[in-house]
Amino acid sequence: MNPKHLAILGCTGSIGRQCLDVVREHPQSFVVEILAAQGFSKALVSQAKEFRPKVVAVAKSSDFEVLRQAFEQDHIDVAAGENALAEVVAMPEIDMVVSAIVGFAGLRSVIAAIEAKKHIALANKETLVVAGEWVMNRLKSLQVDLLPIDSEHSAIFQCLEGEKPNKVEKIILTGSGGPFRGMSLERLQNVKPEDALHHPTWNMGPKISVDSATLMNKGLEVIEARWLFHLNPNQIEVIIHPQSVIHSMVQFVDGSIKAQMSIPDMRLPIQYALSYPERLPSSFQRFDFIRNSPLTFEAPNTHVFRNLILAFEALHQGGNMPCILNAANEIAVEAFLQHRIPFLRMPVIIEKCMNMIDFISSPDLSQLIETDRITREVAQGFL
Ligand code: NAD
Ligand code: MG
Repeated sequence: MNPKHLAILGCTGSIGRQCLDVVREHPQSFVVEILAAQGFSKALVSQAKEFRPKVVAVAKSSDFEVLRQAFEQDHIDVAAGENALAEVVAMPEIDMVVSAIVGFAGLRSVIAAIEAKKHIALANKETLVVAGEWVMNRLKSLQVDLLPIDSEHSAIFQCLEGEKPNKVEKIILTGSGGPFRGMSLERLQNVKPEDALHHPTWNMGPKISVDSATLMNKGLEVIEARWLFHLNPNQIEVIIHPQSVIHSMVQFVDGSIKAQMSIPDMRLPIQYALSYPERLPSSFQRFDFIRNSPLTFEAPNTHVFRNLILAFEALHQGGNMPCILNAANEIAVEAFLQHRIPFLRMPVIIEKCMNMIDFISSPDLSQLIETDRITREVAQGFL
C-alpha cells in the first residue's frame, strides 16, 4: 500500500498515543505530517522529535513561543490559536485526518477536513452526536470517506463488509458496563472521580472514562451508530458484555448474526481505520476462547444508569436535542471530575437542560453551535 500521510489531532491523548503506536509498527504505511493537541506538553515535543511532522499545531495561542523554541533546530513549523487546527488539516500533502480530540471541540476541525476533502478516521464521537446528519450529508456530496475508530463502530463496519445495507435487521452495541456495573443507586451516591477513572477493560481519557461509568458513552455511541450506518433508532440495541471481547454485532434479515471479536485493544480499530481497505498484520495479543471462557451478557440497568435512556430520548426527538444532551453532559462530567457535583447529579443536569432549552427540529450548523453555547451556559447554572 502507498504510504498514507496523516494529520493526528489529539495526538497526546489516549487514542492519539495509540495511533502513534500503530504508525511506529508500520513505518512503510504511514507518514505523520501534522501533530496537534490542545497545548504545549513534554509529550507533544517528544512525539514531534520522534515522528518529525511538517507542522505541530496547538489550539492555545499563548503556547506558540515555547513550541517554536522547542523546534528551532528541527525544521518543524508551529501553528497556534483557535483557527490553527482547522487551517492545517487542509494542507495538500495530507490524505487522512485522525480526529482524536475529545468533545465538541473536535467538531470544527472535522468540518474543515471534510471541506478540504480529506478522509477522516474518527474517534471523536461527539462530532456525530452533535452534527451527524450534517456531517453524513457533506461526506456524501464531497465523496469523502469517514472510518470509525470507536471499537463498537469499527466492529459493525467490519461486520457489514460485503453485505447489503438493506439486509440489516438491527445492530447490537456491546458495552462493558463500566466500573460501577451492578451497583445500586445508594452505593453510587458516594463514588468519586478516581473510582470512575478505573475502567475494568479499557484505559482511556478522563471524559470518556466518566461517560463509560454513567453509560452516557453507550448512549453517545447509539447516536453515532444511527448516523454512521443510516439506521432507525429502533434498529439499535445495547447489551452489557463485561469482558469486552465481542465489540459489537450485526443481525441480518435472515436472523444470522455476525460479531467482531478480539482482546480489548484500541490499537486494532485504529489500525483498521488507518489502513482500510487494507488489513495490516499486527503483533497484538490474540484471543484464546478456552482461557477466556465464558463470555457473558446482561441487560443494561437503565433505572440506575439513566443517561442511556436520556440519550435514546434525544435520538428519538432528533433536531438539536443530541447537541443539548452532549453539551450538558460535557459540563456535568467536567464538574464531576472537579469534585464539584456528585455522580448522580449528572443525569439530573442533563435532563433539566433537555427540558429547558429551545428545541429546533432541523437546525443548521450555526444553530447547533449556538445550541452548544447556550446549553453550556444553562448547565453551568445548575451546578
Ligand atoms: P484524551 O483526553 O486522552 O485526549 C484528548 C486529546 O485531545 C489530547 O491530545 C488533547 O490535547 C486534545 N484536545 C482536547 N481539547 C482540545 C482542543 N480544544 N483543541 C485541540 N486539541 C484538544 O481523550 P481520548 O480518551 O483519547 O478520547 C478522544 C476521543 O476519542 C473522544 O471523543 C472519545 O470519546 C473517543 N474515543 C476514545 C476511546 C479511548 O479508548 N480512549 C475509545 C473510543 C472513542
Ligand atoms: Mg466505544
